[in-house]
Amino acid sequence: MSKSTRLDSKENESEHLPIYQHKAKLIQAVKDSTFLVVTGETGSGKTTQLPKYLHQAGLCKDGKIGITQPRRVAAITVAQRVAQEMQCNLGREVGYQVRFDDCTSPSTVVKYMTDGCLLREILADPVLSQYSVVVLDEVHERSLNTVTYKIDLFLVYLLQDILLGLLKKMFSNPAKTPKGRSIPLKVVVMSATLETDKLSAFLGGCPIFAIPGRAFPVTCTFGFAVGPKDIESTGYAKEVVKVALDVHTSEMAGDILVFLTGQSEIERACDLLYEKAESIDYRYDVQDQTVEGLLILPLYGSMPTDQQRQIFQPPPSGIRKCVVATNIAATSLTINGIKYIIDSGFVKQLNHNSRVGMDILEVVPISKSEAQQRAGRAGRTSAGKCFRIYTKEFWEKSMPEYTVPEIQRTSLTAVILTLKCLGVHDVIRFPYLDCPEERFILEALKQLYQYDAIDRRGRVTKLGELMVEFPLHPGLTRAVLKAASLGCEDLLLPVAAMLSVENIFIRPGHPEKQKEADKKHRALAAKSGSMNDFATLLSVFQSCKSSDRPSAWCKDNWIHWRALKSAFSVETQLREILLRLQQKDFPVDTFDGNKSELFRRCLCTGYFTNVARRSVGKVFCTMDGHGSMVHFHPSSSLFDQEDELNWVIFHDVLVTSRVYIRTVCPIRYEWVKDLLPKLHEVDVYELSGVAREEVTDEEMIKWETREAAKRQPEVSTEDV
Ligand code: ADP
Ligand code: MG
Repeated sequence: MSKSTRLDSKENESEHLPIYQHKAKLIQAVKDSTFLVVTGETGSGKTTQLPKYLHQAGLCKDGKIGITQPRRVAAITVAQRVAQEMQCNLGREVGYQVRFDDCTSPSTVVKYMTDGCLLREILADPVLSQYSVVVLDEVHERSLNTVTYKIDLFLVYLLQDILLGLLKKMFSNPAKTPKGRSIPLKVVVMSATLETDKLSAFLGGCPIFAIPGRAFPVTCTFGFAVGPKDIESTGYAKEVVKVALDVHTSEMAGDILVFLTGQSEIERACDLLYEKAESIDYRYDVQDQTVEGLLILPLYGSMPTDQQRQIFQPPPSGIRKCVVATNIAATSLTINGIKYIIDSGFVKQLNHNSRVGMDILEVVPISKSEAQQRAGRAGRTSAGKCFRIYTKEFWEKSMPEYTVPEIQRTSLTAVILTLKCLGVHDVIRFPYLDCPEERFILEALKQLYQYDAIDRRGRVTKLGELMVEFPLHPGLTRAVLKAASLGCEDLLLPVAAMLSVENIFIRPGHPEKQKEADKKHRALAAKSGSMNDFATLLSVFQSCKSSDRPSAWCKDNWIHWRALKSAFSVETQLREILLRLQQKDFPVDTFDGNKSELFRRCLCTGYFTNVARRSVGKVFCTMDGHGSMVHFHPSSSLFDQEDELNWVIFHDVLVTSRVYIRTVCPIRYEWVKDLLPKLHEVDVYELSGVAREEVTDEEMIKWETREAAKRQPEVSTEDV
């Protein structure tokens, strides 16, 4: 088949999408108003078609069309698709920009990007002078269920709320084009769900354009495997595999989409499926004789791009495709040909855990509306079936009606700092779409104060201005900056990178293999010379980097090569950010302590909020005022060494039946003695005055404009 006929067929294909019939009206609606809400079923063609239509209608004569996606995978794959449809090379007219990967050129006029990327652009150019249209896509998805990199969490997940608020503030008066813009900006907000009235009301009652959907019925059945008592069970992955094989051997042709929660779980399930599928005897077992094989494809955020492409390709004839995915396949990506859904009922979600007083990634039951969205993916082209592995009772008792927006569930530290650096001083009255509780805002202010990112009056400090540049947790950023000021960033940058990607340690399911992997990991920890999990990360990073055959080295040591490769790339990016900052006014410190303590002392400046002291026996007690009882996680190299230690810092917490601390490092009390009082120094209510100064709106606007003007516009190539 020649190249052009293939492209033509893509163009035809897109004419069958529901959005196609509304093309002219849709273009007119965008032209007619500043804000427009567009809604339509997932798969109706919003993300791929609307930007193309606007391009065809000449809306990018005076500026670019920018489309944001909450997830990098979506931004990349969609841009690929649209470039194909528009018959251009990716990176020319159609391009994308995501963190660590800029595929655009001066000729790019349709630009897909992550939310974080657009926010960076607003930081540098508050009126977005290069754009004629900005499309905020997937606005219903205001929680980042799939974690691409942990690095994303702290800045990206709430960005849609910030972006909406900022755009509303800046462009809500069409009569007044902001200074620096010659033409008014058009803002399109797209969503798949029925929250459109709320969105329209938020945007000053703007028009709503609804693309009528066409969905086929999906029959849902409940299972027997997971009931309300199994909330913390991990057995559901096995059950999902069993059901998938049942479907494969007993149902008519049609592809399967399985919903699980995260990368390692998905890979394990795929291994298991593969093993079992190998032994199926197709002569007797399969009812529908046209199905003679199973093609198993994982799908999660940090997957390499070439593998992602395979997901969209139809399977060879006679082969059934089975995609095992995170929630990313619920709304962000549409895979054609799916007829069967297998729903685990769980999702990985970032929650604020009041028991330990911090945000943690947890596997939690999905909401009923989420379950319906998942089921709907089976009915796009014909009637489908959805197999829920949980019981009806689980549905009734354990699943909430709706998912709570992330901004109302998680710590706002990075968001508040970003807002402050954007010149938004009054962070309480900022127009959030879903206003977070005031106490969370105050909690964030308190943390920022503890890290010295803001002063007592709530103004951003020099350190705060440096901190906001890093797409990392503020504590980790502070440790990196401390190290850099002492000239030893080589110790901290790799660690920050390693903590920003998926877990690099492979833990196989098979007990024998598990033992072998554990042994290798212990050897790696010992090699680092000290019983300190941060040092192990550094040592793994360095050993692999200096190895002649890094992928073989990883295989040998049960290390995730792909995750480590991402860590290498993250480290380079962080180093570039640091270099850029160091060219300006960068602090210089001296260290007169013992050299061997340098690494841990730097860590302490960022992790003094995560200090634990031995309580009794193997139990430790946190020092942040919550006084939670915590245990070392078995994955820690300190797990067996507890007896000699009294004080530790830790990176994060895992809550199951117990509270575990992970990535642990022994410290001396003297190192944190002077920092700990800071944890209790300010009362959050003292800061509430700071957050809500009694000033008039006019004064506020003046102040904000002045602050914004102080910020030198600069082109930033990295995306958070
Ligand atoms: P919406 O945004 O309304 O959910 P999309 O524009 O994402 O809809 O999808 C429209 C169609 O384009 C779907 O049928 C989907 O399968 C197809 N599509 C999207 N991205 C790709 C891709 N990378 N490869 C192949 N098909 C794709
Ligand atoms: Mg879409």
